[in-house]
Amino acid sequence: MNSIISKVSYLSGLVDGLGIDKDTKEGKVLIEVVNVLKDMAQEISHISDSQKDMEEYIDAIDEDLSELQGGIYEDEYEPYEDEGDNFIQLKCPNCSDEVYVDKDLLGQRDEITCPNCHNKMPLENCRCECGD
Ligand SMILES: [Zn+2]
Repeated sequence: MNSIISKVSYLSGLVDGLGIDKDTKEGKVLIEVVNVLKDMAQEISHISDSQKDMEEYIDAIDEDLSELQGGIYEDEYEPYEDEGDNFIQLKCPNCSDEVYVDKDLLGQRDEITCPNCHNKMPLENCRCECGD
């Protein structure tokens, strides 16, 4: 972007150096055109700078967002791990298969269906410390 500014500076110096008559119609227009080009080059340079700032800012937001997402997934993962404590291990009296039962089910049901032999197994045979 500096190349545009340097080109316009060169052009401006050329206009001065060539001693273009500011009082002629062509001279007035030419000098005015060079002035507009100077303004445009400055403006483009500012826009370019602020766009670079914006890109850095967006990168920073992107990184923050990634960290934030990582935090959310960790938070979601923890209660899932805690659910492991909420299961008790029972042995099916029919097929002796180990069955994991949600502790919440113990208060709601008297028996469950064994996933292995599909026979009913009573929940009062619970071997955990829940008192059943
Ligand atoms: Zn069974």
